[in-house]
Amino acid sequence: MFDLTGKVAIVTGCNTGLGQGMALALANAGADIVGVNRSNPAETADLVQKTGRKFHNVNADMSKMDSVDRILKEAITAFGKVDILVNNAGIIRRNDALDFTEQDWDEVMNLNIKALFFMSQGFAKHIIAQGTSGNIINIASMLSYQGGIRVPSYTASKSAVMGITKSLANEWAKHGINVNAIAPGYMATNNTEALRADENRSEEILGRIPAARWGTPKDMAGPIVFLASEASRYVHGYTIAVDGGWLAR
Ligand code: NAD
Repeated sequence: MFDLTGKVAIVTGCNTGLGQGMALALANAGADIVGVNRSNPAETADLVQKTGRKFHNVNADMSKMDSVDRILKEAITAFGKVDILVNNAGIIRRNDALDFTEQDWDEVMNLNIKALFFMSQGFAKHIIAQGTSGNIINIASMLSYQGGIRVPSYTASKSAVMGITKSLANEWAKHGINVNAIAPGYMATNNTEALRADENRSEEILGRIPAARWGTPKDMAGPIVFLASEASRYVHGYTIAVDGGWLAR
């Protein structure tokens, strides 16, 4: 049920962090990987190829709308079809709400929710045209559930990710497309570097995680394979928290 042999998975932003971890997990389960990155993801390409699967990179800035068509066309040229889309690329901007700029609002919203929606739309059109089934997995956050501090555009975008996951599931389940999300907790990647560097915030966060450690890209492996595979065939519109118990507190 968890076997992804013969499947093609697009993973946006997979040169590092959670995207890299998920690309590797999908490859280990049998999928060929199309990465979407702004720079050459040499390490990820190497790790995926060591599993015996193929890796193709599409060089694209996901915050630009014209990327969507090109990414899907390149993926299909490389591997003949697409089956799985992981909308992982995301950014965060930190500042007090009183001082927050329009640029920090727009950049985050354009990538984290606008690009995610139009990428999903393009992917769904291809799946329907192929006449196959498909799996979309969006990357949400603890700030899909909570307010957070000093990250207003990030909270707005990630709350929207959880909403759009339900909305698209409602429209596309009938086409055989499963749309779900994973909400990672506090994971040790570039995204949380500033938090981990701040001794007080780091202690505060760690003290509240029942698993008593920051998450890692490897912690995403089981949940991403589950949501990309037949094992989750009747799961639609749901966001799974992978958070060491953070939300249970
Ligand atoms: P990261 O900063 O290491 O990874 C972000 C990825 O997005 C990188 O590959 C980056 O190159 C890519 N990216 C950024 N802007 C892009 C653009 N314009 N076009 C294409 N790619 C772009 O951080 P991460 O923690 O691995 O983040 C991955 C996802 O997980 C993000 O959506 C993030 O919001 C989410 N997330 C992370 C945490 C955490 O604690 N680290 C928690 C919840 C959610």
